[in-house]
Amino acid sequence: MPNSLLIENGTVLTLGKTSKVLAGHSVLITDGLVAKIAPKKTIKNFRGKRIDATGKVLLPGFINAHTHFYSSFARGLTKARPSKNFNEVLKHLWWRLDSALTTEDCYYSALIALLGSIRHGTTTLIDHHASPQAVVGSLGAIERAVRETGLRACLCYELSDRDGAGIAKEGLAENAWFIRQCQQQNDSRVRALFGLHASFTLSDATLEKAATLGQMLCAGFHIHVAEAQSDQDWALKHCGKRVVECLKKFEILGPRSIAAHCIHVNWREMELLAETKTAVVHNPQSNMNNAVGTANVIELMKRDVLVGLGTDAMTTNMLEELRVALWGQHLRAENPSVGFGEVTSALFTNNPKIAERIFGLRFGEISEGAAGDIAIFDYDPPTPLVDSNLFGHLVFGISQACCDTTIVGGRVLMENKKLALNLDVERINARARELAKDLWRRM
Ligand SMILES: [Zn+2]
Repeated sequence: MPNSLLIENGTVLTLGKTSKVLAGHSVLITDGLVAKIAPKKTIKNFRGKRIDATGKVLLPGFINAHTHFYSSFARGLTKARPSKNFNEVLKHLWWRLDSALTTEDCYYSALIALLGSIRHGTTTLIDHHASPQAVVGSLGAIERAVRETGLRACLCYELSDRDGAGIAKEGLAENAWFIRQCQQQNDSRVRALFGLHASFTLSDATLEKAATLGQMLCAGFHIHVAEAQSDQDWALKHCGKRVVECLKKFEILGPRSIAAHCIHVNWREMELLAETKTAVVHNPQSNMNNAVGTANVIELMKRDVLVGLGTDAMTTNMLEELRVALWGQHLRAENPSVGFGEVTSALFTNNPKIAERIFGLRFGEISEGAAGDIAIFDYDPPTPLVDSNLFGHLVFGISQACCDTTIVGGRVLMENKKLALNLDVERINARARELAKDLWRRM
């Protein structure tokens, strides 16, 4: 069978609406999609590639709904001045780092983040990119890294006025160029959104231009929203409205758009996010690290907001982020019994919904017709693993296990913990170290 892969004799966690634990089952992937799930040895006369998953669990590949590949080169950076608040974190660290990025840095930092994602079973990523001194060509360089690793990614350039009118103009053009290119290619591996940094670094005139252009291109937007209270203070002072109301005015919200963070939003803003069907992406580790607060995931979901989970580049491991999301909701509510259903559905139900809107495939379940994106973990459960407790095993057990194999659209990207790519990872790391050293010197 051409373009076929058979994963044999694993424990399949199907997830999805009819979430089941199927022990001793095999999964057949054909032409990029799951074609069949059946008890072992019932799929006969198969001639394609086989993977033995005995003693392992299969689950749908993870989706990271908000990240920044360019952050890879901040690892080990010690030069940033201590910051007292979120705006100082941006000024002392991130805006110094992104302003020093070259196009080659964009490509290598993306490769590092993507390879890390494969190692943790993450198969789809939604990135938000900034490199103000290398805007033109940056998304093309990142796209090359995405294609070389075989993952799925949705890219955008984070438009901002903070570096002047010329760079804002380039940001508008880079978004528009990349959106058009993705629409022409119509490839379920690489997609685009229209990127905006945050309302506090965008003038009304630039927001207006971005909104007009994005709507003309039928693109959704990807923007940071109410990450710190200072974002709200700025919006009230300059727009006379709160952040979400301001974005509603410019028609930035909608079912194709992503609002990252939404920590400092009030009830009315939650209702606006729900009414416009805008996806909100929660990034708990980053929010704790920046000491900006914790989004009220429980209330957002009560109001029917589609809340997903991202890492904001703090990790490439979605199960680590899931655990922190859960502890964060416990602490926020001062109640250890809340949030489990909400945060697990953010990762396992809502991230797939967000990705479906962008990529047009069915994600988040191992079922016939769903994307053939699968993570296989070394996990022989030491306590009963059944339909009703599989999320408990994910949070407390599988999260502590090793990802063994990662598959996207039936293509094996890692097998037996070894990358199965035509990439020289040692050389990539060596070049990345050189580039990071140069970048730190320029900062
Ligand atoms: Zn972010």
